[in-house]
Amino acid sequence: MPQTLISSEELQQRIRELAAEIDRDYRNCENLICVGVLKGSVFFMVDLLKQLEIPLAVDFFQTSSYGSATEPGEVRIRKDLDLAVRGKHVLLIEDIVDTGFTLRTILDLLKFRGASSVKLCALLDKPSRRQIEVPIDYRGFAIEDKFVIGYGLDYDERYRNLPYIGVLEG
Ligand code: 5GP
Repeated sequence: MPQTLISSEELQQRIRELAAEIDRDYRNCENLICVGVLKGSVFFMVDLLKQLEIPLAVDFFQTSSYGSATEPGEVRIRKDLDLAVRGKHVLLIEDIVDTGFTLRTILDLLKFRGASSVKLCALLDKPSRRQIEVPIDYRGFAIEDKFVIGYGLDYDERYRNLPYIGVLEG
């Protein structure tokens, strides 16, 4: 069994705090698109968005996954957005920022496409692993350099449905 790093209660409490901050910051915004990065961010995104009261649209990116043959720094877009972002405010929602390459690529792409603003909300941050700078506007938890699973995060497609963040032993 995985060891619990962040319990379900801690996750939900922190998500309520993040939602209150986001609601406050975007209260006058009429054209917000919340963009999730598949698949890992889905559990976090659903819980977060259910807490928000501001009007918003939802869309998804899918990038090449962790452990693929892709070189670090080369991020493939597997599924692109359905919505146009030009002139829209985008809140990117990600499960974890590790080296930063995935987010850097997506943030640059969204800006290139003419989004009015792009902010990042990440549940987990592994600052010691960062190789490229990525500003995190809303951060759930900073964690040590450990491979975590659960609450959307997988190991070989398993464990995504755990309601907590855990660490695999061994
Ligand atoms: P980055 O491009 O920042 O290095 O990597 C981001 C992606 O790597 C995340 O969206 C996630 O899919 C994967 N990743 C990074 N660290 C972990 C981890 O500790 N556990 C799992 N399951 N995936 C991770």
